[in-house]
Amino acid sequence: MDSSEELKKIKDISVDDVSSIKQTMEAINKGGLGMALIVEPGSECFKGLVTDGDIRRALLDGQGLESPVSVVRRPESKTAPIGTSREEIVTMFSDKVRAIPLLNDNKQVVDLVVFDRRVHFPISEPVLDVKELVYVSECILTGWVSSAGKFVTRFEEMFAEFCGTKFAIATSNGTTALHLALLALGIGPGDEVIVPSLTFIATANSVTYTGARPMFADSETETWNIDPGAIEDLITSRTKAIIPVHLYGHPADMDPILKIAAKYHLKVIEDAAEAHGATYKGLRVGGIGDMGVFSFYGNKMVTTGEGGMVVTNDKGFAERIRILRDHGMSKERRYWHPVIGYNYRLTNLQAALGVAQMERIDTILQMKRDIAAIYDSGLGEIPGITLPPRKSWAQNVFWLYSIIVDSQVLGISRNELIEQLKNRGIETRPFFPPVHKQPCYGIDISLPKAEYLSANGLSLPSSPTLNKDNIRRIVKVVRNVVNNMSM
Ligand SMILES: *Cc1c(COP(=O)(O)O)cnc(C)c1O
Repeated sequence: MDSSEELKKIKDISVDDVSSIKQTMEAINKGGLGMALIVEPGSECFKGLVTDGDIRRALLDGQGLESPVSVVRRPESKTAPIGTSREEIVTMFSDKVRAIPLLNDNKQVVDLVVFDRRVHFPISEPVLDVKELVYVSECILTGWVSSAGKFVTRFEEMFAEFCGTKFAIATSNGTTALHLALLALGIGPGDEVIVPSLTFIATANSVTYTGARPMFADSETETWNIDPGAIEDLITSRTKAIIPVHLYGHPADMDPILKIAAKYHLKVIEDAAEAHGATYKGLRVGGIGDMGVFSFYGNKMVTTGEGGMVVTNDKGFAERIRILRDHGMSKERRYWHPVIGYNYRLTNLQAALGVAQMERIDTILQMKRDIAAIYDSGLGEIPGITLPPRKSWAQNVFWLYSIIVDSQVLGISRNELIEQLKNRGIETRPFFPPVHKQPCYGIDISLPKAEYLSANGLSLPSSPTLNKDNIRRIVKVVRNVVNNMSM
């Protein structure tokens, strides 16, 4: 719309104070924006804004169509002087304020900024393009849509190479990958497995599926990952394994964990579901412990829709996982099942997506680093915001760019910040509740660091589909929200 059209529209939806409700409804109808502007007769100074909802409530309250619009009760409207930046205006929106008239020096409306639901910054969206379409189409055109087919093998080979491991076994999702890794270790009823409490629940659930018990460790404040110093206290004669999680893309401190594991003869499964490509002392995660597990859910670093992978350098584990993934069927004899297995296979269709995604993973990793750099420089100076960990021995992949909020210093609570950002089209996500507090586990212990991080952490939009300007705008909105609060 050019500016003369804009002005005409503003004229169309303007009524004066003495207009009737009916005339106002006609103006609303004409504009198609669900609202009308009330202006002073003659001077056309802005006096207020009525929405069709305000009018509906007035009619329900007993007002008639011929009552003057001045009887309609309406929330005070916000305005901004013409020339105010878009970023500034965005921060003025809330669940009640969905339109901001821009006024000239004479207080006349010269523009109207309406909240656009389509302007929305999602937390994590996949990067899907022609390549994905071509490979998936190939499955359909050749009929290889189920779990046999060349893409499964290719995806496994590519992923093993990416992680620097000898073997990679694709599974139906990250949770089944964890389950198979535990089963390959022979873990079952009576055993205990140490997991961080601050993680997605699947880490603990996979242990529970085997009949073993997850034992919850506290986190370190600095990396948000399992505190190696909290592990030894949890070790008993039943302990069989430790599952460190590389939370939100930053590696756990593996050396002390491996040292404890060696001392007590425990196995280590890395839950790298959120950290494809992250490195610990130069090594890609997943290949550092006895086994590593990945997820390809839609919001992860790369996706197959649903999907998972176990990587390992141990041939025995790899073979056991392949058998368990396929109904426990003997490799030598078809339909002969020495053990009870599962159907945890990935389909060729999904693997086709996976191959296309692995061909672009370096680009995705770079995009995530670029996003993180912009956030770092924009948010780093704000007292009360702690940026994501960046240990010298690690490379964070910033699966979700996450921060910890000190509400005392910032003047706004984590949940309020989430709400304020949501009203401005910015989707965020609070940290996972610690698993020991989940109703399905409900264990009466206190893990203060995990609980603190969980209560004060939030993830910001991290989709590689967001461009640099989008991230800069998000930074600006966060800064404005925080500044408005602390004033
Ligand atoms: C996503 C995730 C999983 C589970 O993966 P799914 O593919 O969703 O089953 C496991 N652990 C962590 C830490 C995750 O983030």
